[in-house]
Amino acid sequence: MLNIDEFKIYLINDLLGVKRDPDIVYPNVSDSDWENYKSFAQNEDGTIQSTWRGYLLETLNEKILIDTGMGPGPYEHTKEGGQLINNLNNLSVSPEDINYVYITHTHGDHIGWNINWDSGKPVLTFPNAEYLISKFDFDFYSNNPNEDFLKQILPLKELGALRLIEGREKIVDKVFSLPANGHTPGHQCLVIEINESEKLIFTGDLFHNEAQIFENYWCPIFDWNTTMSTISRVGLLKSAEENNWLICTGHLSDSKAIGRIVSNNNKIAWEPIQI
Ligand SMILES: [Zn+2]
Repeated sequence: MLNIDEFKIYLINDLLGVKRDPDIVYPNVSDSDWENYKSFAQNEDGTIQSTWRGYLLETLNEKILIDTGMGPGPYEHTKEGGQLINNLNNLSVSPEDINYVYITHTHGDHIGWNINWDSGKPVLTFPNAEYLISKFDFDFYSNNPNEDFLKQILPLKELGALRLIEGREKIVDKVFSLPANGHTPGHQCLVIEINESEKLIFTGDLFHNEAQIFENYWCPIFDWNTTMSTISRVGLLKSAEENNWLICTGHLSDSKAIGRIVSNNNKIAWEPIQI
């Protein structure tokens, strides 16, 4: 747990993702481009792997769940089921306790626990929560729906739990949405403005792999618009480095999930903090 002023932040893991071939995920990045990063950004067998997770952000009065992971599953490739609810329960937090579900973007690995379909009908997994979704994502995927959207996002509207976010909006005191479009049309980060200069940002899928902290122009095949995603990534990571902001990453392994970009003699490094 990370405690800053009145905020408490917990990693809430759901599942360890499937091992992937970096040549398929980053088709424009060559083996030699990877050379400097292999030792820490790839598995020993040369694959890359994401952790699928959410975060719990507690204020004095509210509980905000940021992304809901891959869902109950079992996931098709690993045959394992998601652990997000169990991991909340381990903190003595029940789904009923969540006040807001903030979705960084509507890809399947970030929305999987939104809705429970056990009864054959859509039921809110977090019955007392307002679900905060970017309007750009909602509009785009309403016109271009996929199964994840139809099952985990669209029912939020008829269940009366949907709030569409446009640009920067206040969520609770000192906590704001922060548009960072490109990975999806409405991809958004979440920022805690701790004080005048200090910020903490939940970056969602602004980047997937640790190497992209150094190589901001690398884009995974999952980016919807690589020009937009690159502009978002370059801009936000530069600001984070210059201002020493804390970053809660969407997909890095637990021991590296939260950290800062630091620079020494014009060389940057990812400096994780242990929580
Ligand atoms: Zn993702």
